[in-house]
Amino acid sequence: MTREIEFRVEAEMTRLLYRSAGFGLFSNFVLAAVLVAGVWSYFPARTTLGWLAGVTAVTLARLATSLVFVRRFRTDEELPFWRTLFFGELMASGLAWGAGAWLFLETDALLPLCLATFIVAGMNAGAARSLAPVRACYLGYLIITLAPTLVRLVQLDAPGAWTLGAITFTYALFLINTARLHQADLRKLYRLIFENEELVVTLSDAKRKAETANQAKSEFLATMSHEIRTPMNGIIGMLQLLGGSPLNSEQRQQLAVAAKSADTLLHLLNDILDLSKIESGKLEFEQIDFIPGEVAEEVVALFSTRADAKNISLALSLDPALPGQVRGDPMRLRQVLLNLIGNAVKFTEQGSVHVSVEQRAGREPGLLFRVKDTGIGIDAATRERLFEKFTQGDSSMTRRYGGSGLGLAISQSLVHQMGGEIRVKSAPGRGSEFWFELPLPVSEQRRGDAIPVPTAPANAVLHGRVLVAEDDWGNQKVIEAMLRRAGLAAVIVDNGVEAVARATGEEWSLMIMDMQMPGLDGTEAAKRIRQRLQGRCLPIVALTANARPEDRAACLASGMDDFLSKPIRQEELLACLGKWLGRQ
Ligand code: ADP
Repeated sequence: MTREIEFRVEAEMTRLLYRSAGFGLFSNFVLAAVLVAGVWSYFPARTTLGWLAGVTAVTLARLATSLVFVRRFRTDEELPFWRTLFFGELMASGLAWGAGAWLFLETDALLPLCLATFIVAGMNAGAARSLAPVRACYLGYLIITLAPTLVRLVQLDAPGAWTLGAITFTYALFLINTARLHQADLRKLYRLIFENEELVVTLSDAKRKAETANQAKSEFLATMSHEIRTPMNGIIGMLQLLGGSPLNSEQRQQLAVAAKSADTLLHLLNDILDLSKIESGKLEFEQIDFIPGEVAEEVVALFSTRADAKNISLALSLDPALPGQVRGDPMRLRQVLLNLIGNAVKFTEQGSVHVSVEQRAGREPGLLFRVKDTGIGIDAATRERLFEKFTQGDSSMTRRYGGSGLGLAISQSLVHQMGGEIRVKSAPGRGSEFWFELPLPVSEQRRGDAIPVPTAPANAVLHGRVLVAEDDWGNQKVIEAMLRRAGLAAVIVDNGVEAVARATGEEWSLMIMDMQMPGLDGTEAAKRIRQRLQGRCLPIVALTANARPEDRAACLASGMDDFLSKPIRQEELLACLGKWLGRQ
């Protein structure tokens, strides 16, 4: 036990003395009056009243001290003083009672003899509890009050006086032991209370520190991965442009390696960004209508080339009973399917990957997504930790297949937050099966009611002037080159204020707007442009490294029409431009 806790226990014991003194003082006065009434006819009034006045004076002095203690006491450092004062006054009170016993036991009459003995003994019984916190107080009080009683009883030449003395002595020993045990219990109790308090303070402090550190870590990761995405945009964009220029086969190979590495890095950044958002609780989910089968089809289509290249079959079966539209977050669902199907294709060398989406009826209807492969399977040890961060199969596998070990941890968190749980069945060499059920409510809106999105004619000829607001030099060069290749003239501005001035002061076919710019950010600039254009048509496409649904929602809410995420892909940019400019 630390010295500090010992000090606090001692302080509490002194406080307890004062706290339990109130009733003792009251009984002091009442018992003194009873004793005086009982022995009234046996002693002169001067003796009895004189004694009562003495006891009352001491009792009143103790009462006054207690009241001052309650009002004045401030710090634990003052406690030794208050304890000494208490002890002094207690001894005075003990002396008064001892004197009472001495005075009223000087008789042969049985009644005053018994009355004085019982009352003094009773006082000590009551004090065993209230004075137990400090041993010296109780022992002192007991000796001072009972010693005169015992001496008087032993001196008395009356039959039974010795017996009464022996009983009183045994009783005193019994009281001392009771007070000792009570004191030990009290000290133990307060030690426990203070140790617990200290523990709670230490634990909450540690928890707060851990939470702050975790928050700082998540924010650091989010900022870092965002900051890294911006130059990555330049690298990936330029590599794409380079791919379109004449290269010899060796250069093309080098370019492919560079592009693949950039892709891997980007994947890792996205995972870290997601994880930091999940951990800081900042992940938001959309609630929009979507067609679940289409999401699955889209993801399967994305992996078909990779599956073909590995010579494995990749199939999708959709339950005919699937609802037309459901309500939920298609982007997050897509992200989970991308991970599960991506893993299945990655870890399967021969055979097949089968994806299915089924309607689940019952008490809680939902959709069941299943991804089954005939790949390498997962051993029991890896399976146990599969959904923890940075978990991967053995190191030889990591080297061979790559990956960060974050995908399943993120997928599990996403599925959890959408109300489901991912489960797995797998054995080494026998393939794996991952499945999860999501409670996606069927949407009221019919398929045909979905908001129409302009689509690009297959061979749209693009023409027009495009205003680009982008502050990063590398990204400016990438977009400019991509727009030039698409046959469009581009004017670049590098801040929001100039973007608003030029967008509203000249005629443009389309505007591409970065979200984070010095001075005025993209969403604020878009709001001002919409206000000033007063309904005049200018498609504004957001281009941002913040590629999450909530960012998309913020862009659309500020008056932008479309959304492209960095690093920008030439095909995506062309599809978007075609969508908006092909209509002209
Ligand atoms: P990553 O694939 O990026 O390493 P994941 O969290 O998606 O991270 O997967 C963690 C590990 O789980 C993988 O490294 C692999 O060992 C194992 N795993 C996941 N899916 C499969 C699968 N379909 N077949 C075999 N092993 C798998």
